[in-house]
Amino acid sequence: MSSNQYFNHEGPWSDATDSLMCTDTGDWRSKRPVVDKEKCIFCGFCAIYCPIQVMEMTADSCFQPDLDFCKGCGICAKECPKGAITMVSEGEFVS
Ligand code: SF4
Ligand code: SF4
Repeated sequence: MSSNQYFNHEGPWSDATDSLMCTDTGDWRSKRPVVDKEKCIFCGFCAIYCPIQVMEMTADSCFQPDLDFCKGCGICAKECPKGAITMVSEGEFVS
């Protein structure tokens, strides 16, 4: 069981008390994962492979990253079997 205040669970290979996982470092991300809900089959691979465990299930049966902590590494997009995750430049979200 994780003692981390931010995450409900951790993978068998990760440490939820590690400083990288506990620190809000999402602000230096250059790209963010965007999930296409229509393509998502809710397999959970993105959550399993995310090294910092920030892909979480949402109420509308989809997986979404916690952008306060997502580092933008792109592993989730690489591993998604349905190609449902696209890495989009942060510049696209600046208003
Ligand atoms: S890996 Fe892709 S298809 Fe599977 S839950 Fe994540 S976004 Fe959905
Ligand atoms: S981009 Fe990396 S850190 Fe962000 S949700 Fe995907 S696997 Fe996790």
